[in-house]
Amino acid sequence: MDNLWRLTLSLNLETRVIDRLPNEDFVPYAPEDDGEQINIDHESCPEGEDTRKRLYIRRTDDGRILGYCHNCGLSGYHNGGDHQIRNCRTYGTDDDETYGSKLTFSAQIETDINQFPRRARVWLYQYGLTEEEVKTNGIIYDCNMDRVILPIYDISGELVYWQGRSLDLKNNPPKYKNKSLHTRTGVLHYSGSRVADNVCVVEDIISSIIVGRIMPSVALLGTHLDDEMALTLASNFKNINIFLDPDAQMKAVEMAIRLGPLAKGRVRPILGADHDPKEMSDEDLTTLLM
Ligand SMILES: [Zn+2]
Repeated sequence: MDNLWRLTLSLNLETRVIDRLPNEDFVPYAPEDDGEQINIDHESCPEGEDTRKRLYIRRTDDGRILGYCHNCGLSGYHNGGDHQIRNCRTYGTDDDETYGSKLTFSAQIETDINQFPRRARVWLYQYGLTEEEVKTNGIIYDCNMDRVILPIYDISGELVYWQGRSLDLKNNPPKYKNKSLHTRTGVLHYSGSRVADNVCVVEDIISSIIVGRIMPSVALLGTHLDDEMALTLASNFKNINIFLDPDAQMKAVEMAIRLGPLAKGRVRPILGADHDPKEMSDEDLTTLLM
């Protein structure tokens, strides 16, 4: 009798384990907002590799998480608990190499935009960045800081600088956290070729990526042009367009006057736009720049 009871219990336990979708398969991928649903590949699907995103995960209206895989039929339930649970990978020393030896943002990062929390994706997509652009520019999400990291690599692939953009300005100020400022001399963000006939100089990294679709672009990370930056621009590019945000048009004019004698070609401030470069359509940018 005792043995039979044991056998029944162990069978029950086994059945429960097999029938249930493991938490780690779906909880970390749950959408952040209540009522939202996503579907992803069930990575360790017992019915074989799933490449058709058949694992459905829903955050219920009261914050619980339901998972169901249409491939293996397993389902799971989680009470939601901490909404902060995310699919953040921990990068050890080996993986740090990917981001250069000067990695100083925290080691808890997510590199796949599809796994960024919703507000990070919303922030990036509001400017029309593509998944490919996010990837090629090495944009990642830092889970500890709860910031989108906009990195800058030098030509050898070394991380030389980064900015962390807050996604919650009220509770997580300031808007940007940066690698310490005294290391910033001469640091430029390049989008496209680093040596070319034409370049467009902008203030911020997102603008540089957007403008980079039209012509090689460089971000100053503000409106300050130090001597090193000025010489780099003048020696690597022939014609220099300076397109700062609308509130910095006088700065653009001053910069053009300063770069004029250094440049090999034409230096032109782009004036009259009423939006930041990152807020403009490709068509409007083309009209303005070409
Ligand atoms: Zn499955």
